Amino acid sequence: MIRQITLAVFATLMMGPLWAGPPTDAGLKDWLEDLRPRALEQGITPATFDAAMTGLRYDADIIRRDRNQAEFTKTIWDYLDTAVSDLRIANGRKALAKWDSTLARIEARFGVEKEIIVAIWGLESAYGTFRGSAPVINGLATLAYDARRAEFFEGELIDALRILQNGDTTPDRMRGSWAGAMGHTQFMPSSFQKHAVDFDGDGKRNIWEDDPRDALASTGAYLMHFGWTTGQPWGTEVRLPDGFDYTLADRADTRLPSAWLAMGIAPVTGSVPDKHGPASILLPGGAGGAAFMIFDNFAVLEKYNTADAYVIGVGHLSDRIAGAPDITQAWPRQLRALTKDERTELQQRLTAAGFDTVKIDAKMGPLTINAVRRFQLSQGVVPDGYPSLSVLERLRAL
Ligand code: CA
Repeated sequence: MIRQITLAVFATLMMGPLWAGPPTDAGLKDWLEDLRPRALEQGITPATFDAAMTGLRYDADIIRRDRNQAEFTKTIWDYLDTAVSDLRIANGRKALAKWDSTLARIEARFGVEKEIIVAIWGLESAYGTFRGSAPVINGLATLAYDARRAEFFEGELIDALRILQNGDTTPDRMRGSWAGAMGHTQFMPSSFQKHAVDFDGDGKRNIWEDDPRDALASTGAYLMHFGWTTGQPWGTEVRLPDGFDYTLADRADTRLPSAWLAMGIAPVTGSVPDKHGPASILLPGGAGGAAFMIFDNFAVLEKYNTADAYVIGVGHLSDRIAGAPDITQAWPRQLRALTKDERTELQQRLTAAGFDTVKIDAKMGPLTINAVRRFQLSQGVVPDGYPSLSVLERLRAL
């Protein structure tokens, strides 16, 4: 559930700390006293609050990781090399075999194919191997007290307390990533509260222990809630015809597969019937990389994490686990990813040059991609919308 975190990072980057002075254990303790009445107002009992908040420490390491998070960036091909490695495919097939009957029941109940659930499990925790061992309450309290993203993390902290109050787990067993993503498929507390299910019937929604059944079913429930269509692919690799008009590779430009096929676009394997519904063309590595025809289920996977790389990672891993071949088109491996500073500069320069990116957040979303595309058109270069270093260099030379 990285999505919520990523959005929150950028939404609040500009906010300064509300609490003066360096953060300390004593400062955290004062902040928790301040939080207590707000938590009780939201239905948390004094017993739940006090049991969960005993002995918390300010965790400077978490704050360091939080500060560094937004700097991290990879090209899609570097990401996919790791996300869809031979080992992850092999382990995915083993996981699929081991949990086959459970996954079949999850598929029947929530309408989400077993390979998709397994692929999310594989990317979120390497099939349960890395679920995170950080105490979630301590981490969320530190992040909420830190104040940079106070509102987001305070909300998650209150939801974590609701989970404890409900008896799903205990403060000691509520472990996860440093940022509060928990269990086999890394649910944030708010997503857990809305979507987690007790699938093994023991009366508790338990995503933290070795048994993955509740976590896998909760992932199915989550995708069903956001509109997963059974039997529809996330997307499929396609070849573009010579002379393809790259302005059509725009998320907002959706057409039935037959309309794309009529333009000379062809799936690399299999067929793309119109029953899959409207699709758009995605070029995650620009004109020099692989092209995909993506369907509505792509947007459902974005509810887990908005990064194209993540969604393609889940989708492609699920295909590979099911026996499909590797992506056939080459990636432009000579290109490097822009740094966060360069992405910010790109947005500033585009906007200053009259190609408004709307936000200056270092995030290469559809608005920025379209601004890049308009700039490329004005320069007479291939308008693939890919935010490369050469685009930035062209802007610098204006
Ligand atoms: Ca259970």
